[in-house]
Amino acid sequence: MATNWGNLLQDEQQLEELARQAVDRALAEGVLLRTSQEPTSSDVVSYAPFTLFPSLVPSALLEQAYAVQMDFNLLVDAVSQNAAFLEQTLASTIKRDDFTARLFDIHKQVLKEGIAQTVFLGLNRSDYMFQCSADGSPVLKQIEINTISASFGGLASRTPAVHRHVLSVLSKTKEAAKILSNNPSKGLALGIAKAWELYGSANALVLLIAQEKERNIFDQRAIENELLARNIHVIRRRFEAISEKGSLDQDRRLFVDGQEIAVVYFRDGYMPCQYSLQNWEARLLLERSCAVKCPDIATQLAGTKKVQQELSRAGMLEMLLPGQPEAVARLRATFAGLYSLDMGEEGDQAIAEALAAPSRFVLKPQREGGGNNLYGEEMVQALKRLKDTEERASYILMEKIEPEPFDNCLLRPGSPVQVVQCVSELGIFGVYVRQGKTLVMNKHVGHLLRTKAIEHADGGVAAGVAVLDNPYPV
Ligand code: ADP
Ligand code: MG
Repeated sequence: MATNWGNLLQDEQQLEELARQAVDRALAEGVLLRTSQEPTSSDVVSYAPFTLFPSLVPSALLEQAYAVQMDFNLLVDAVSQNAAFLEQTLASTIKRDDFTARLFDIHKQVLKEGIAQTVFLGLNRSDYMFQCSADGSPVLKQIEINTISASFGGLASRTPAVHRHVLSVLSKTKEAAKILSNNPSKGLALGIAKAWELYGSANALVLLIAQEKERNIFDQRAIENELLARNIHVIRRRFEAISEKGSLDQDRRLFVDGQEIAVVYFRDGYMPCQYSLQNWEARLLLERSCAVKCPDIATQLAGTKKVQQELSRAGMLEMLLPGQPEAVARLRATFAGLYSLDMGEEGDQAIAEALAAPSRFVLKPQREGGGNNLYGEEMVQALKRLKDTEERASYILMEKIEPEPFDNCLLRPGSPVQVVQCVSELGIFGVYVRQGKTLVMNKHVGHLLRTKAIEHADGGVAAGVAVLDNPYPV
């Protein structure tokens, strides 16, 4: 994709003046993060990194990503309810991956006891990159779906004003008007509010499971604020507090500090380092309760990379979404090549192909949060080490998506204004609510564009690699 801002990117002085204006507008709009020096306090904050200009995204791909989001919601929900599929899919992985095994243990324990929860809430974000096809046209390819702690829906609603500002300063009024309005946090909050309402206890609260050090607090507050505007109160607690102050009554209603909890919203609990023994006990307590978990343990498992890889196998989508060939076709069109590394011929062949052409693949463990995937020479070394061990089953291989790079300026506190070659990743937020077997809400609620310099193979804004952006539809 060629850039629309070509000439502008050449005038260094103008870029610096624009960047000063953009940063001030970002701060004024609330595009904020706590600093890495003071991650527990809001006394000193700074702007969340962002691009100086919006990045060009073909409207057709944006529409395609929006159109397939409800299908992904249905698919995740179907996987989460299919205990046999989860068990079969994760069998080899949980033998070698302790984190997934622990989540799976809780899942089994809850199933054995009987699921107390009757209302289910999914807040997810499906991420894509634009693969540059042989004829040069970009194609939408899914990177992954996040079913737990999908973030930046709050800050993404504040960045359009910043890019409109930049374009307005340049007297590009027509272009400024093309920046889409976006409010994912409102949609996410509407999902939580619906689940809260269906839980049906007027005095019950929403419990946000928070990390001790949370730089991205303002993103979370955006959702809390939307809930409060609907008279739904949110308390923030860490896992440790749940194990000390949480309890279930005989109907498995959840109480924290004596207050009933209707919805548990996790913004923690997706990485191994976030769990002590005590935290695992707290997670089990929450899962055993009849409170609406977002996500429940099965839905978190449905978001693993191993599940993503198995879903791409022939016949799987048809089995999970019977009688919905159009949804299946829309979903499949977004799948990149995904390969199992389970012991056996299929896995052997995938490894051989990756060793023969390392630049075409990514090696992924069952981890979230950025910085865990292996590329290039690191991938080769890992594959050589893993090749003859069962440990390889805890990874999957994925085709590497190669978007066409473009120029933009990435603005970060403390960094000089510089034009660099970039690629973008588009995320679409999805929300669904199910009561028993009835789906009562299924929608898309907004987008997130993140852009990073091409020198980084991996991504993530929280990981310090990507920055916030807006699609400029073309
Ligand atoms: P995580 O759960 O850590 O976010 P992802 O699968 O989203 O894991 O990968 C992290 C980042 O790595 C992505 O944001 C993207 O920048 C890059 N990435 C992941 N998969 C691919 C791929 N198949 N092709 C190109 N880049 C990828
Ligand atoms: Mg990701």
